[in-house]
Amino acid sequence: MIIDLHSHSTLSDGTLTPSELLAHASKQEVDVLALTDHDTVAGLDEAAKAAKELGIQLINGVEISTSWNGQTIHMVGLGIDPSYQPLLDGLEKICEYREWRAEEIGRRLAKKRIEGGYEGAKSFAKGGLIARTHYARFLVDAGYAKDIRDVFKKYLVRGKPGYVPGKWAEIEEAISWVRGAGGIPIIAHPARYRITAGRLRKLLSEFKKAGGLGVEVVSGSHNENETQTMANTVKKAGLFASQGSDYHGPENPWVELGRLRPMPDGSKTVWESEFWPEGNS
Ligand code: AMP
Ligand code: MN
Ligand code: MN
Ligand code: MN
Repeated sequence: MIIDLHSHSTLSDGTLTPSELLAHASKQEVDVLALTDHDTVAGLDEAAKAAKELGIQLINGVEISTSWNGQTIHMVGLGIDPSYQPLLDGLEKICEYREWRAEEIGRRLAKKRIEGGYEGAKSFAKGGLIARTHYARFLVDAGYAKDIRDVFKKYLVRGKPGYVPGKWAEIEEAISWVRGAGGIPIIAHPARYRITAGRLRKLLSEFKKAGGLGVEVVSGSHNENETQTMANTVKKAGLFASQGSDYHGPENPWVELGRLRPMPDGSKTVWESEFWPEGNS
């Protein structure tokens, strides 16, 4: 069984449409796939149709941008009802902020004599919401940096000209939207946050108290060591383990859909938990 519970489409910052993503999942022999676009559920209908035709089990998902003590934390919601109104209202608010932030990034880059950033990012977004990823693609395309990693380091992270501190949903509200929608809240790629082990334990404990259920142990952005460490931390915190590639498209050849490190032995997985949606497909 190949289970991949974190992926993106063109509705956020992936480069494949939902149908193309599902076709790719089929090629990669993925059995269970969650589409988890940033702050939107708009790709799920198309994904569901394609999944049905291909015999893939689609899990309705979303990756919500949240703030925890001023820090941006990504939270995946799995098995959500995408018509649950409080969730839709919350995501809409985040997307309004996202749009303002996209324009603000453009204004800040213009002060550094980089013109046309907003329009450039918007055209890379192809009608979906605008993420820093789209700015990154524009800036590389326009020759301001050699690749995506380089462009983030130079322009788009804290302390750099195109960085705007995120004002996202509070993590507790995002948890309540996901639980209200019948879904499972999961902390995404925890090893990517620049926080100490002690602070991570505090995050997990507050997350659990607020109704959080799982944490990504296996992630396309975790190395072997981080995976093992996270398995232990998550077990001690009494949370379920999840796994996902965080696939954004073929342009990122180091992350492939459905190709994941094995889940460390002794992990309690979300898909074996009592919270897993029965027959959600
Ligand atoms: P945003 O939600 O608009 O702040 O954009 C965040 C997205 O940018 C993430 O989901 C990643 O896809 C991408 N990203 C963030 N940091 C990096 C990085 N250092 N290198 C490449 N992509 C990154
Ligand atoms: Mn992304
Ligand atoms: Mn993320
Ligand atoms: Mn993601």
